[in-house]
Amino acid sequence: MSRGGFAYSNDTGRFLACEPLAAGHRFAVVGVPFDGAVTHRPGARFGPQAIRHASLMLCDGVHPLFDVTPLARGPQSPCLLGDALDLRLPNASGVAAAQAAIAAQAAPLAAAHHCVFLGGDHAVTLPLLRAVHARHGRLALVHFDAHCDTWSDHFGEPAGHGTWVREAIEAGLVDPARTVQIGIRSPGERAAREYVPGRGGLVLSGRELRGRDGVALQPLIDAVLARVGDAPAYLTFDIDALDPAFAPGTGTPEAGGLTTAQALTLLEGLAALRFVGMDCCEVAPAYDHAQVTSLAAATLVWTYLCGRIARAPSGREAAPVTRL
Ligand code: MN
Ligand code: MN
Repeated sequence: MSRGGFAYSNDTGRFLACEPLAAGHRFAVVGVPFDGAVTHRPGARFGPQAIRHASLMLCDGVHPLFDVTPLARGPQSPCLLGDALDLRLPNASGVAAAQAAIAAQAAPLAAAHHCVFLGGDHAVTLPLLRAVHARHGRLALVHFDAHCDTWSDHFGEPAGHGTWVREAIEAGLVDPARTVQIGIRSPGERAAREYVPGRGGLVLSGRELRGRDGVALQPLIDAVLARVGDAPAYLTFDIDALDPAFAPGTGTPEAGGLTTAQALTLLEGLAALRFVGMDCCEVAPAYDHAQVTSLAAATLVWTYLCGRIARAPSGREAAPVTRL
């Protein structure tokens, strides 16, 4: 696909240099630049633009496995993908106010498009789940992270970027029995670590993923596919699921994580699921080197989008899809 110009032109500020979001676009990229709920290093508010910039490396966006591109033109749309740029968020009013603003602005976008959100710290996912839940109902959750994000409070505060999984389950947005956490390995008390498995969910820890690559990941992919089934599913990818060697640009890095290649193999295998929305969060470009983190994030988002297009070319995500 030619876009009639220099492939790496960075003058659009949009993911894959796609079109500005319009009514006919099936997919919407939406930036959520809030980082007021972090435990350690701030800076994820700058993640969306860093991911967009790194995405320009992906050129025409044609995926080598799925053989589709988000830049293709659909039968009834000018293009499959549009970029809404960033939500307009308060940054000095507290976590609850920011989450309320995110939910209010994300709801109409999620009602009209299949949304891919670029964080932001992980506290943005709770209001994003509210927006996607309003359209699709109770969601299965596939959650890549070094952290379980099931703490009951944020060091004495009611909410932070490590409490949203518990909040989403308690609010009924997410089905705990169809919740899968992948890459978990941080320090954390037993009550938090066992919150999801204690409610019937599945955890594939960072330890279980050590040394598994390629076909050795297939049994784990099969376990996730079986657990989630045909439910509408939401994917959230905290970039710190990756090892700091592959994603140094994040606020709370944890040693011993996934390689980018492992994550891509898992996402390719999980593309059979009925995903209805995604976010990629916690990219903090101030701590990055040579765009390695933001390029990983852009590649994960692009892989997700191409998986959606390959599984449901008509755009009817509501219909159960079968494995490729
Ligand atoms: Mn997280
Ligand atoms: Mn994390």
